[in-house]
Amino acid sequence: MLCDCHIHMVLDGENWRAAIARHKNGPDEVYVRKTLENYARLGFAYLRDGGDKWGVGLLAKRIAPEYGIRYTSPGAPLCRAGHYGGFIGEKYADEKECAALVRKQRSAGADFIKLMISGIMDFDQFGVLSEPGLAPEEIRQVIRIARDMGLSVMAHANGAETVIAAAEAGVDTIEHGAYLTREALEAMRENNVIWVPTLSTIGNLRGKGRFNEQSVEKILKSAMDNVALFASMGGFVAPGTDAGAWAVPHGSLTEYALLKQCLGERFEAILDRGTRELEARF
Ligand SMILES: [Zn+2]
Repeated sequence: MLCDCHIHMVLDGENWRAAIARHKNGPDEVYVRKTLENYARLGFAYLRDGGDKWGVGLLAKRIAPEYGIRYTSPGAPLCRAGHYGGFIGEKYADEKECAALVRKQRSAGADFIKLMISGIMDFDQFGVLSEPGLAPEEIRQVIRIARDMGLSVMAHANGAETVIAAAEAGVDTIEHGAYLTREALEAMRENNVIWVPTLSTIGNLRGKGRFNEQSVEKILKSAMDNVALFASMGGFVAPGTDAGAWAVPHGSLTEYALLKQCLGERFEAILDRGTRELEARF
């Protein structure tokens, strides 16, 4: 039984603008059904969506049981106005707007809340993020808002400082998690945070010629080393490809392959444990 703990039904792994345009008059149910059918045929039984503001993930969640798939969705990801995530998520300017958006997702049928609290990797430059994360106090506030409403929290987060703030505030999963330090990994383990490292978003860039190949290799190696270290510390690791992101098609099995490469022969036991924990909260 396979699972993917981070996908975007709205995207298609190729061109995000064209993918989003497909749903401009409402979610394209034919596309969603075709994608779910493909997942079912490959043997996926659990999918967790990373969110979109057009209701595509929510539609998938409603019809996925017809394909024997348990599918959970956050509705739209929430991002701070002026920061990364506005292309796919809903924006809030302050705490009050954030709380209103959390309530809105919940009444639209969201199973949990997805927060965007940092930038993304610059694949051409090792160690560089597109922007720093939100201030730690802001991170704590937005996580508290969701948790106070009884919702689990999935956070898009890169960089040690951002991840430490999120872990201490009670985030459930960290997505991506580039450039983590030992201190950040310890904060995650101590707070029972599940790490979904989405190695596919890096690994699948290799040999594509779109980014500096040496940087991509270096970014991948640092992430894989951290995953191995985190697992050896007893941290929860779960497989999520970020399917729909560029070069990551739906139904991709690359995450399992990359995690196997860094976790070695204990890979199945480690992923079983991480996935069980994630499915219990999401
Ligand atoms: Zn994502």
